[in-house]
Amino acid sequence: MLSLTNRKKIVSNKEQNFSEKIYLPGVLKGMSITIRHLFKKKATIQYPEEKRPLSPVFRGRHVLKRDENGAERCTACGLCALACPAEAITMVAAERKPGEEHLYREEKYAKEYYINMLRCIFCGLCEEACPKEAIFLTDRIVDTEFWREDFIYGKDKLVEPIEKDKRIDVTKRQTPAVLAFKKIPGLRHNVLYEPKKLKEKKHHQH
Ligand code: SF4
Ligand code: SF4
Repeated sequence: MLSLTNRKKIVSNKEQNFSEKIYLPGVLKGMSITIRHLFKKKATIQYPEEKRPLSPVFRGRHVLKRDENGAERCTACGLCALACPAEAITMVAAERKPGEEHLYREEKYAKEYYINMLRCIFCGLCEEACPKEAIFLTDRIVDTEFWREDFIYGKDKLVEPIEKDKRIDVTKRQTPAVLAFKKIPGLRHNVLYEPKKLKEKKHHQH
């Protein structure tokens, strides 16, 4: 028959010889490859006892940062949710009441804030979009869970602890440009809440 392509293969039906019939040489050849690999450097590690070193800018579980005074930095502007390609972020905004300046840095804050870790692709776009340096990805891994709803992280899991020694260090993720911006005096974004000054201001108003 006329062949239309060059891909045709002639299959040989040749009889197996004795050594092929007993499979032994084939088995020994396979075992020799296995034994050779026993002495080579292993590609696998004994996780979780052993952990691979992660990059300082590894994109893992998020943190919602507090400022130097312990106030939550997030102002519920929604830019992170808008930037998120996986639509993993949602939040409910609220207005800060007088006397809550030590809790929330801005006049508007996130009363509720959720990230669905099952939707998240850890791209880091939320971190880049945030104008308040409130959200950062960290080198922490998302915990394993039994139930899907447990992967929806609320503020209880996202906001960092108030104790200074338990805060999450994100300095390695902050670019020199951001750090220089924080040092510019007079910018409202950089102004910290100081209870003493606030009291003085109120006093002058009366
Ligand atoms: S890391 Fe990417 S996918 Fe995950 S919440 Fe942020 S923007 Fe969305
Ligand atoms: S984390 Fe940043 S971008 Fe997202 S709502 Fe809060 S302030 Fe806005």
